[in-house]
Amino acid sequence: CVLQVLWWGPRLAASSTDFFSAIPQMSCARKILNVIFPTKSPTDVDRAVKAARAAFRLGSPWRRMDASDRGLLLTRLADAIERDAGYLAELETLDNGKPYAISYCVDIPNVVKCLRYYAGWADKWEGKTIPIDGDYFCYTRHEPIGVCGQIIPWNFPLLMQAWKLGPALATGNTIVMKVAEQTPLTALYVANLIKEVGFPEGVVNILPGMGPSAGAAIAAHMDVDKLAFTGSTEVGHLIQQASGSSNLKKVTLELGGKSPNIILSDANMEEAVEQAHFALFFNQGQCCCAGSRTYVQADIYDEFVERSVERTKNRVTGDPFDLKTEHGPQVTWETQLFKKILNYIDIGKKEGAKMLCGGKAASDKGYFIQPTVFGDVHDQMTIAREEIFGPVMQIMKFKTLEEVLERANDTKYGLAAAVFTKDIDKAHYLSSGLRAGTVWINCYDVFGAQAPFGGFKASGNGRELGEYGLDNYTEVKTVTIKVPQKNS
Ligand code: ADP
Repeated sequence: CVLQVLWWGPRLAASSTDFFSAIPQMSCARKILNVIFPTKSPTDVDRAVKAARAAFRLGSPWRRMDASDRGLLLTRLADAIERDAGYLAELETLDNGKPYAISYCVDIPNVVKCLRYYAGWADKWEGKTIPIDGDYFCYTRHEPIGVCGQIIPWNFPLLMQAWKLGPALATGNTIVMKVAEQTPLTALYVANLIKEVGFPEGVVNILPGMGPSAGAAIAAHMDVDKLAFTGSTEVGHLIQQASGSSNLKKVTLELGGKSPNIILSDANMEEAVEQAHFALFFNQGQCCCAGSRTYVQADIYDEFVERSVERTKNRVTGDPFDLKTEHGPQVTWETQLFKKILNYIDIGKKEGAKMLCGGKAASDKGYFIQPTVFGDVHDQMTIAREEIFGPVMQIMKFKTLEEVLERANDTKYGLAAAVFTKDIDKAHYLSSGLRAGTVWINCYDVFGAQAPFGGFKASGNGRELGEYGLDNYTEVKTVTIKVPQKNS
């Protein structure tokens, strides 16, 4: 049955000249998925947690494995993913709808780099020796936390899986991962690769269950030591509550955003327009760090808006398997995402924002939405406050830096922000004042496995990636030994 599903990738690619007629095949594959993966969640979660706990017991092959060998396994996993990159990219596009060129050239290489980066950390995550008072030798050990629950979303299925697997495995934890119900295929394929490269049994357990059942069961489980979640702020609240009312498992959260992208009048206009477009429309607008509030200084506002609309009208929408395509379908109808986005567009119009292009479903088949731009947006409008998670751009006007800083920070979120300017003083002034976990200057969505990512305020807690990402998966143990002062 699973093999049958995996076949849809190549078939869809082969028949992709008439893309819109291929859509029913995709839905059909989705129906099959629902049959294969019914949710028997609490029982399945329990079995997975037991397997992860057994793999974590003292003296198990995983606990006895040299740190350098853990690193080697991660390297081998990266190699296997790289070997199967074409197939995985097809599967990712079939499952998620993102353009194949992006799956292959952006998602997969970043997955490989992330796993290799954390492979290198496995035998370098050192404790300290600490000069405490008295005749003592004091040192810290960085130990794994234990069984880690990991719940990931559907917008970057492979990448979010790598961000979670890399640091957790490098530090020696075991894992129960729930992948998003909309996009389970690549994660399950990677589960096979994990087996193939030789991770011991029970170290990684992957469940494609539903959120409110399987996800909630992991969050509330009494034998899960840590939970890492990426998803909506609403579910983030539930995860934190579940921890509080169960065993106080450690929780890290990477949640929503409404990130300001500030364009100053001295910016390079061409680059600013292109980057602001990319900041919002990349991945069909389905990015937690999307630059979804574009603030443009008054004296360049009209030109910026005009050029942004032109760029957006030229965005190539259609068959995600066509290499020219920039914009695929939204991930799903089932979770109301598609309808929710169209509803936000209606609200924007009703509240008086000026719709400058797009605004409708792009076809009566599939989940395509026309890339949409709103101008004359005011800060209190719903589309300027809530996370739309779709291809809808909001452009606002500002006059002074002080004013835009205050307005940019007037949000419950704090995931990312960007500034476009040629003036280094203005760049420093704004980047130090912005309340966000990442600030990009003259660029957007630039990620590296080496650089931490995470949110201020309701955009989450903890950082993923980089050395900081290892903290999320480590218990620090202090060992203090009395040192005899004479030879007895
Ligand atoms: P989105 O709205 O973008 O789909 P969600 O926060 O709903 O984001 O989903 C992100 C992940 O959280 C998915 O794997 C989903 O299944 C899971 N999830 C959804 N609801 C819950 C819940 N109540 N408890 C735990 N996990 C959940």
